Amino acid sequence: MISATSENYLKTIHAIGGSEHSISLGALARALNLTPGTVTTMARQLADNGLVHYLPRRGIRLTDLGRTTAIQIIRRHRIIEVFLADTLGMPASDIHPEAEILEHAFSNHVINLLDKFLDHPAFDPHGSPIPEASGHIRTTSLKPLTQRPEGHRYLIHRFTRNDAEFTEWLATFGFTIGTTIGFHKWDRITGIVTLETAGGRRIQVGESAASSLLVE
Ligand SMILES: [Zn+2]
Repeated sequence: MISATSENYLKTIHAIGGSEHSISLGALARALNLTPGTVTTMARQLADNGLVHYLPRRGIRLTDLGRTTAIQIIRRHRIIEVFLADTLGMPASDIHPEAEILEHAFSNHVINLLDKFLDHPAFDPHGSPIPEASGHIRTTSLKPLTQRPEGHRYLIHRFTRNDAEFTEWLATFGFTIGTTIGFHKWDRITGIVTLETAGGRRIQVGESAASSLLVE
């Protein structure tokens, strides 16, 4: 088992592109908000453990093992977020800091059991895809509702407008992340978008509100 510090390094290297190419230790130090000296010591340690390729002049890059480990941490983080929000009812704004701690405490075995208990969620409460146990990450093509053709239903993935009042209002019509929304009509002259609930009820919103819904 590797330390929480090592796990955070791997996650950060992955987040700033270190799965695909070498990144400089300076960039990593900035992303972690640490001094270059601290990061250099850790880079050597991660390389000794086979988690990164590290060449002093060329920078740092995840090995296959490092990348797999980073994706497992992301999987743990996102499944924990679903559990905190859906099962424990924690507000979405509070789950991330808790998951940052718990992601290091749960084993992959417990996470797989939790994944089963939660019925294999595909997305976390923020709308980010949860990597599968195999490490496969679902690719999605998320777009604002207003960039989709009218007359169809779409899966809601994320709200880009961080406005609890708006999302609570949408929820009263059953529009929450993971449910579908009907895009009935967009009147370009008035800017009014007509949405349709699962039960066929029509509601109207402004086009800026409609475009804050990312759907698949
Ligand atoms: Zn999070």
